[in-house]
Amino acid sequence: MARETSLNARLKQIRLLVCDVDGVLTDGTIVLDSSGHEAKFFSVLDGTGLALARLGGMQTAFLSGRNSAVITARARECNVPWVIQGVAEKLPAFARICQQAGIPMSAAAFVGDDLIDLPVFKKAGVSIAVANAMPEVKRAADWVTRTRGGQGAVREVVERLLKVQGQYARVVARYLNPHASKN
Ligand SMILES: [Mg+2]
Repeated sequence: MARETSLNARLKQIRLLVCDVDGVLTDGTIVLDSSGHEAKFFSVLDGTGLALARLGGMQTAFLSGRNSAVITARARECNVPWVIQGVAEKLPAFARICQQAGIPMSAAAFVGDDLIDLPVFKKAGVSIAVANAMPEVKRAADWVTRTRGGQGAVREVVERLLKVQGQYARVVARYLNPHASKN
């Protein structure tokens, strides 16, 4: 109970949501055809989640160890401004995103699923593992989602962030009626 309360207190401070891609925004499957062209399966639930996060004033970023034109395309489609990919070490990249976004690492949440994500977990304000994350990653996380990567895990994260921050109802209303007055 106390742990839950302190987690919610930290979730209230979050202004930037950084998501790993493979295994978090996808189920980890990488589709390659014989000419090396790559495809990934994303959840439309997460696309809406990222839109809701933005409406709630939350900045969003993708941080991937692999390099893929698919990630660039998905980031563009979801209006995710910060994208770093093809990095062997994620912590320096995470620090760079925070610096560019003007947000301390303590006010950034990171969602991951595999060992490469663990160094970021030590510095992020809130570290989140998806339901399909590796056991070590789940153990190190502040919170493990109920939803698996690629099936709306990021949507679950965004909903909780916005609810804890008291923004959820307002943001959903704006999403459903984008032309209404902001007041
Ligand atoms: Mg991953």
